[in-house]
Amino acid sequence: MRKPILAGNWKMFKTVQQALSFAEHLQGLANDAPDQVDTVICAPFPSLYALNQQLAGGAIKLAAQNMHQAEEGAFTGEVSALMLKDVGCTYVIIGHSERRQYFGETDDSVNQKVQAAFQHGLLPIICVGEDLDQRSQGITKQLVEGQVRAALSGVQANDVPRLVIAYEPIWAIGTGQTATAQDANEVCAHIRQVVGDMYGQYQAGLVRIQYGGSVKPENIEELMLQPDIDGALVGGASLDPGSFAKLLKGALAK
Ligand code: 13P
Repeated sequence: MRKPILAGNWKMFKTVQQALSFAEHLQGLANDAPDQVDTVICAPFPSLYALNQQLAGGAIKLAAQNMHQAEEGAFTGEVSALMLKDVGCTYVIIGHSERRQYFGETDDSVNQKVQAAFQHGLLPIICVGEDLDQRSQGITKQLVEGQVRAALSGVQANDVPRLVIAYEPIWAIGTGQTATAQDANEVCAHIRQVVGDMYGQYQAGLVRIQYGGSVKPENIEELMLQPDIDGALVGGASLDPGSFAKLLKGALAK
């Protein structure tokens, strides 16, 4: 069975103090994360070190929201996998649509970053998803398939069970508009099929696929109950510890 994974993507929100206050509140509310769900906070770079100190020994895992593919070098403003491991990250989000849209992230750079993450023992959460125009053209599955194939090019079969793919339709991000649970599941099932086609059914059965896009405490349960949805990548509703604790409860519906 695949272990459900709930990840809160804070995007560019929270100072170090605010991040620590969130973690303290969440630890009080949820009495640490339940064993049955992998719980991840994707915090901005400056808070990662302090959060790692605070969460040390607990079940909540840390993720970064991006990284550079090189180990080190003259890349002003960038952060490497080595550095993220060093401050306690377990996961790293790669190819979020906001990075593709505003920061020139391409399928090719996503692929290089995925390979670099694995090389350094970081688990990638690879984001894929269509925009509204692509959805209305009826090319969602085709587009997402292309993104998945490109992201995984050259990735070893034995790494595949450790990766996470997040299906995030761009039109659902931050808009309050969610894909219906059935529509979301259909695309997630297609992603699993693509992974199966590339690596075989056994590996595909182990890959965890999240849905993201306006996930809230009110709709997470219905999404989690879908057979091919193994978790959620949550933006806005992950910022408040009370809301995050409710999301965790909902994720337990799996
Ligand atoms: P929202 O949950 O705010 O729609 O954001 C989704 C997202 O982009 C998570 O990565």
